[in-house]
Amino acid sequence: MAKDTDNKATPEDDMTPIEARRLMEEEEAKRRAQRDLDKEVNIFDGIRDRDNNPVEPVKLKGSNKFCFSCHKGVSCWNECCYGHDITLTPLDILKLSRSLYLAPATFLEKYTVPALWHGADMPIAKLRVKGEDGSGPCVFLDEKEGCTVYENRPVNCRYYPLGMATVKLKEHKGPEDFSFLVREKHCKGHEESKEQTVDEYRREQGVEPYDIFNRGWVDILMKLSSWKVVGGPGGREIDQRTKQMFFMATTDVDMFRRFVFESKFLKTYKIDDEMVEKLKTDDELLLLLGFDWLKHILFNEKTIEMKDEVLQDAIAAARQADAGSEKPQED
Ligand code: SF4
Ligand code: SF4
Repeated sequence: MAKDTDNKATPEDDMTPIEARRLMEEEEAKRRAQRDLDKEVNIFDGIRDRDNNPVEPVKLKGSNKFCFSCHKGVSCWNECCYGHDITLTPLDILKLSRSLYLAPATFLEKYTVPALWHGADMPIAKLRVKGEDGSGPCVFLDEKEGCTVYENRPVNCRYYPLGMATVKLKEHKGPEDFSFLVREKHCKGHEESKEQTVDEYRREQGVEPYDIFNRGWVDILMKLSSWKVVGGPGGREIDQRTKQMFFMATTDVDMFRRFVFESKFLKTYKIDDEMVEKLKTDDELLLLLGFDWLKHILFNEKTIEMKDEVLQDAIAAARQADAGSEKPQED
């Protein structure tokens, strides 16, 4: 994460003209591919799809108003907590497991089911419902008292009845988030007269602290979805081990911390001493480091830097491998 701005030497400085040209051609090919790939991608939503077509196809801005109120007095109290399809974000898993005094691995085993992110074939976790046929109550629902993890409920539960989508349009520099209204027939909260803006509702539901964490995770999934049409980042399919790494870094901070401190991670990447000290106890910081590291290993982004000596060794090894493959084959 730390950047060494004094050292201006780049790997390109040590390259032969042929290697430099090859690198430039590869970079240009990547840029061309990315230009073709940038398109509208709907990546993240909060729909618990039980009724047909519950989404109002209107993009809502933060200042747009809608009528809605959910309280114990509504006739549909708790109905939305049955048979849901809720994807847990990395911060949801962290907050829920900590609030239940469980290690993330134990939390995942008890309260979630493994799933694949539909757009990118990447492993994620969904909140479990009781029963066999998928229509039962949420594992955290108490029929009388309602949600037993309300303070730490998932961001999808906070958002409802709003859905959130992120789009990346060709003509736009970065992704754009917007909300939309989900009107399921069973939800009587839409008949209440309380009016609020999208921003007011988000504030009331405590969504904002989740934004920065969701952004990092969604960005990765969104890019993977885009790259999928050409077989994966740089045209290469993502191998099983990388998928496991993705799952570890986005669902299990305890395991990721062990990975950071017990593997070659700290010998490989430039992370300053102060940050290393914080990473020992700061789970949220560790999540953000995980996103940076994933962006680096998946898309070669400079979100985290290799130590100079490690980089030089890697270049030398790549050259050696290159030279070996270019040797004429002996009969
Ligand atoms: S976590 Fe709480 S609010 Fe969300 S579905 Fe379960 S019981 Fe309902
Ligand atoms: S009003 Fe909607 S969100 Fe509230 S309990 Fe009823 S179904 Fe759930």
